[in-house]
Amino acid sequence: MKKIAVVGAGFSGAVIAQELGKAGYDIDVFDARPHVAGNCHSQRDAETGVMVHTYGPHIFHTSNEKVWNYIRRFDEFMPFTNRVKAITKGRVFSLPVNLLTINQFFGKTFNPEEAEAFMASIGDRSIETAQNFEEQALRFVGRELYEAFFKGYTTKQWGVHPSELPASILKRLPVRFNYDDNYYASTFQGMPRNGYTYIVERMLDHPNVKVHLNTKFERAIAGDYAHVFYSGPIDAWFGFTEGRLGYRTLDFAAERHEGDYQGNAVINYCDEDVPWTRISEHKHFSPWETHTKTLIFKEYSRFCEESDTPYYPIRLAKEKSQLNRYIELAGGETNVTFVGRLGTYRYLDMHITIAEALDVAERFLACAPAGERMPAFMVDPLG
Ligand code: FAD
Ligand code: UDP
Repeated sequence: MKKIAVVGAGFSGAVIAQELGKAGYDIDVFDARPHVAGNCHSQRDAETGVMVHTYGPHIFHTSNEKVWNYIRRFDEFMPFTNRVKAITKGRVFSLPVNLLTINQFFGKTFNPEEAEAFMASIGDRSIETAQNFEEQALRFVGRELYEAFFKGYTTKQWGVHPSELPASILKRLPVRFNYDDNYYASTFQGMPRNGYTYIVERMLDHPNVKVHLNTKFERAIAGDYAHVFYSGPIDAWFGFTEGRLGYRTLDFAAERHEGDYQGNAVINYCDEDVPWTRISEHKHFSPWETHTKTLIFKEYSRFCEESDTPYYPIRLAKEKSQLNRYIELAGGETNVTFVGRLGTYRYLDMHITIAEALDVAERFLACAPAGERMPAFMVDPLG
């Protein structure tokens, strides 16, 4: 029986390899990087001992009980709640916008009902259906809060005016009329005791799974395998024939200090004249550990050039029409399934990545014995 190739050792690839390896398939996993876990890679900093999320802060949260039970088979999850602070025009507030944010910002002592009525009065209700990010913000939080928290940050993060971005980006953040400052609304949230790389190493630790690091998989050898699960960039698979899909990339400037630098894991900097978007202090992601020194990262966002690491897919009209052409090309592949955030060119949280990878593995285990062909996509990348 021919082997299966899994391209990419991030969560997409690791879950597929684990599930198919367990089912008796021989798997070759390839990753161009020198480590597993993709963008969720974590490692201890030698100087401070702090567990670092190399490609930016990653907080695990989900309302999917199946995924929560699955991930906890590979490490213990420690209690962690993401409580983000935001600095705007020299003052500190709590995000997402909640009752404390509203009361402090406007110097009020509203209760939930009063706050809701107040927000309705400052929101621009002449906007019936928000056509873009700016309209969504003006409708739901009004101009003052939009300009304080969203306009500058979003312009820095995406490199375009918020009126050019889809409303869906802002819809990720709730507005709350109570004092709940948990950044996420998910049922479950936590941090792996030993880091994400430990989890992925355990997923890949199976006698049927062989991992090849520092090895870029080339399309030319796809025919050597019964099937290829590809979690690399879809445009790269086709040699960028339809042009490069646009991404934002991030630069991280590390600083080491004594003690506690900012007293919180994440602080956003919402003013446009501060060049970084946020500062993350990674020891606060492991509150059960004690470290005398600290390591912080200032995060800068910019357009992703050819040699950079792709982070956030831009997905504006131009990119979507390019993506459409890549989807058509993918339909011509006979033994490749495109998965994950790069393979489907979507922003995906870890729990969605894992849920989708489990679905892909399950479908393959049903298709393969029946001699049925796996589809190129299990999800609609344009959806
Ligand atoms: P990746 O992790 O990108 O893995 C793909 C792998 O494929 C890479 O290692 C790459 O080297 C390899 N590869 C590509 N092409 C080839 C090739 N030709 N040959 C060999 N290898 C190849 N999610 C959360 O749930 N919570 C968070 O707090 C959170 N924070 C985030 C912060 C940032 C800044 C970003 C960008 C994302 C964040 N995410 C978060 C999302 C999370 O990073 C993704 O869900 C996850 O990385 C997706 O896994 P993946 O396996 O699909 O992709
Ligand atoms: N955002 C903002 N100000 C903030 C935090 C977020 O304007 O302080 C906007 C920004 O455009 C971001 C979007 O809200 O891309 C979604 O926020 P989220 O925290 O989900 O961003 P991500 O985790 O993707 O960086």
